[in-house]
Amino acid sequence: MISFELSDDQKQLQELARKFAKEEMIPKAEHHDHTGEFPYEVTKKAWELGLMNTHISQEYGGLGLGVLDGIIITEELAYGCTGIATAMEANALASAPVMVAGNDAQKKQFLGMLTAEPKYAAYCVTEPGAGSDVAGITTIAKKVGDDYVINGAKMWITNANVASWYFVLAYTDPSLKHKGMTGFLVPRDTPGITVGRKEDNLGQRASDTRGLTFEDVKIPSKYRLGNEGDGFKIAMSAFDHTRPVVAAGAVGLARRAMDEAINYATTRKTFGTPIAGYQAVSFMIADMAKDIEAARYLVWRAGWEIDQGRRNTKFAAFAKAFAADMAMRVATDAVQVFGGYGYSKEYPVEKLMRDAKIYQIYEGTSQIQRLIIAKEIFERR
Ligand SMILES: Cc1cc2nc3c(=O)[nH]c(=O)nc-3n(C[C@H](O)[C@H](O)[C@H](O)COP(=O)(O)OP(=O)(O)OC[C@H]3O[C@@H](n4cnc5c(N)ncnc54)[C@H](O)[C@@H]3O)c2cc1C
Repeated sequence: MISFELSDDQKQLQELARKFAKEEMIPKAEHHDHTGEFPYEVTKKAWELGLMNTHISQEYGGLGLGVLDGIIITEELAYGCTGIATAMEANALASAPVMVAGNDAQKKQFLGMLTAEPKYAAYCVTEPGAGSDVAGITTIAKKVGDDYVINGAKMWITNANVASWYFVLAYTDPSLKHKGMTGFLVPRDTPGITVGRKEDNLGQRASDTRGLTFEDVKIPSKYRLGNEGDGFKIAMSAFDHTRPVVAAGAVGLARRAMDEAINYATTRKTFGTPIAGYQAVSFMIADMAKDIEAARYLVWRAGWEIDQGRRNTKFAAFAKAFAADMAMRVATDAVQVFGGYGYSKEYPVEKLMRDAKIYQIYEGTSQIQRLIIAKEIFERR
């Protein structure tokens, strides 16, 4: 049976997140965009309301909600500010490998840390020389007695400076390529970790993105996730959980851009007529509405599939690619609807256009999503 009706609980979550976005995020978004200051205060309030770490099971202090529930919350938060929403969402990305492959002690320690206090975590896979090509990483974890010693550098790590722990992907045997990678949980206060400067990014400037270096960072074997060689699989399977949620963020951003465009188009007059009266403008907005709706269905499907316990890799890639490309297009058209004012920092849509771009890049670029889809089509027939 197909239903687009949300449950009462989901409607309540949606309403809570919508109210939070309106009252706590929208008034602060410009400040954090302008200064790049990390939104501690906003994220702390979100944590207190139960809007963070919703996916962590109740056993470890979370709400144990599904991916679809996370999608519903994230669309609303992203409507408020995607920079702040990404700072919250980075916890979900870092904790997904622990959910997928952690043992009970690891879940208690690392997931428990996020639910006991408003703390952060980061997912460290990308390196200066390797992003899309994960096998190109050079970080090494060498077994020494009962410990591992990690050396290497990571790049573009969201929440790097605020995290209490990191999920780190490293080679334990580079000769085995993908099968020689292993995932580790690394407490932030381990000696040998250096956090780089905050990157001066185009958009989502509230979110903290930095490089990290690991120099002889010694961690006990009990912080290894799964077995040696499982790391690539663990790191990639995390995306099946998080890509639908990231895509929901793109939907929220696009919805905000459309609402701003509608408001402006009904008040701005040229030649004595509100610009919404011109088909060239109203059709731009009609396309926005149509594409947002289509993206939302793909996003919900991707979340629903994994909540049913089914492999959703193809649906997650559909949702991520479609929603990201759609959000970029919608935000760009919103700037167009605003004309010259759209280009000014005094109006809201230029931020939305800057913020939208990253959806086509992080958690796998739009090109890589197409690569995944093609692989699913041709290799899984
Ligand atoms: C703000 C921000 C936050 C981020 N947060 C994190 C994080 O928390 N953790 C983390 O690990 N990483 C993070 N990243 C890294 C992000 O996931 C990578 O930037 C992304 O995967 C692309 O890798 P790259 O930058 O090395 O680009 P490259 O892989 O060098 O790609 C460059 C271009 O080539 C294209 N391309 C590459 N290979 C192919 C191919 N085979 N076929 C077709 N096109 C291809 C890409 O699509 C892209 O357009 C973040 C990045 C940014 C900018």
